[in-house]
Amino acid sequence: MEHGLKIYIDRLTGERMERIEEHLGPEVMDVEEKDLQFHAPVALKGKAYLAEDHLIIQLKIETEACMPCAICNEFVKKKIVLKNFYHTEELVNIRGQVYDYSDPLREAILLEIPSYVECLENCPQRDELKNYLKQGNTQFPFKDLS
Ligand SMILES: [Zn+2]
Repeated sequence: MEHGLKIYIDRLTGERMERIEEHLGPEVMDVEEKDLQFHAPVALKGKAYLAEDHLIIQLKIETEACMPCAICNEFVKKKIVLKNFYHTEELVNIRGQVYDYSDPLREAILLEIPSYVECLENCPQRDELKNYLKQGNTQFPFKDLS
């Protein structure tokens, strides 16, 4: 898969820094799950540089995840923002002078996904659910048994 998630180490020697500014398609997330989808681009902004024997990548990452609302099951768009993605890699581990950081990037984004979302931060069906639960309590099904 061709994408902009590669750092060419030889371009960074001599204290040079590479500015990163990318808008990647959602397919870079490589996620196909029923309860988690990506339809929006993944925006990256930051830099990569060398510090002694390490490559350092610092980015701000923004994207949007689609997940079902915990109450009504409608899909909800949830903005995901990582203000400070920071990844270091030892240069000895980088083969062929090219480092592909799609895996650490993906992992960092997935770690930011909340386990629980509700539409509009407060699902309109929440009250219905509350009423339903309340009714359930007052109409205790076995009250006539005693
Ligand atoms: Zn909802």
